[in-house]
Amino acid sequence: MNALKLKQTFESSFDVVGIIQTKRYLSEAKKMGKTTPDITYPTMVVLGMAYPARHLKHTKTHLVPSFYTFGSDYHQVLKNRIQEVMKNLPYRYEMGVDNHPHHERLAAVLAGIGFFGKNQLIINKTYGSYLFLGLVMMDLELEEEMILDVGDDCGTCRKCISACPTQALFDGGYDMKKCISHYNQEKRVLTDQEISANYALFGCDICQMVCPKNIQKGIKVHPEFELSGKEMVSIVDLFSMSEKNFKKTYDHMSYLWKGKTILMRNALMVMDRYQNDEYIDLIQESMKKYETPWYLDTATRILNRMIERKKHEHL
Ligand code: SF4
Ligand code: SF4
Repeated sequence: MNALKLKQTFESSFDVVGIIQTKRYLSEAKKMGKTTPDITYPTMVVLGMAYPARHLKHTKTHLVPSFYTFGSDYHQVLKNRIQEVMKNLPYRYEMGVDNHPHHERLAAVLAGIGFFGKNQLIINKTYGSYLFLGLVMMDLELEEEMILDVGDDCGTCRKCISACPTQALFDGGYDMKKCISHYNQEKRVLTDQEISANYALFGCDICQMVCPKNIQKGIKVHPEFELSGKEMVSIVDLFSMSEKNFKKTYDHMSYLWKGKTILMRNALMVMDRYQNDEYIDLIQESMKKYETPWYLDTATRILNRMIERKKHEHL
């Protein structure tokens, strides 16, 4: 097996494939001061799988997470596809999709999958930033097989920086703590400022949506990412179902990975932002079953605002 043959084998299941030597990845990570666990496998296969950009709007009864969660959970989709390819190859391997200690985006840049955009995402010439990334570290010595035409870079554009509602993006960097997509997945007490900036049930799409490199991209739909009908989450389900029943009803959705309480907390922020005060009784009832301090803190503050607004409505 040579590198080109291996690349072609993965291309039957993935949209973009690059192969790099692990020692180059480790040396670049070190140069950049990034901590990374040692990897004994000599070869890294860097994979990209395209997903579609689809925009749904919140309604009075249902709320919408970031569109990268639409369709089946991408972690499992990519892992299944990697396993399908690897079952026909005689090499030992490890894989990683999103939740692992390696620097996926650095590996993607080194493999020529795309350039590192000011929005902190890998931007591919054909698919823009609408790509899920995966890594396969393999026990096979190979030459590198990179993608050489990575396209243009950001140049003087700074649309994502201007559009970021929390100034998480700035010239020359990114403050993860300020990023909505980061903090709306965190289990902690949020500030009033964080609460009022959040607009999504899970994640944030703004810096992808404004990016000119994404124009006419995000149209490829793999069967696993077809809409399943579970993209919009019912407010009643969220606040009335048990964790177990909710997970069963919304199974295979990647927004579930942090649990239901995170979604309830985020739903309250969205309802507060759009002044949807129709579910006060349901929320009050559901709060009796939750003791988690970070949830109760946000829920109580928002619920009080909802009750105040309702009072004024009736004056
Ligand atoms: S995901 Fe949202 S909050 Fe985070 S950097 Fe992008 S626009 Fe800003
Ligand atoms: S919006 Fe502009 S600056 Fe931001 S990632 Fe896209 S091309 Fe780069």
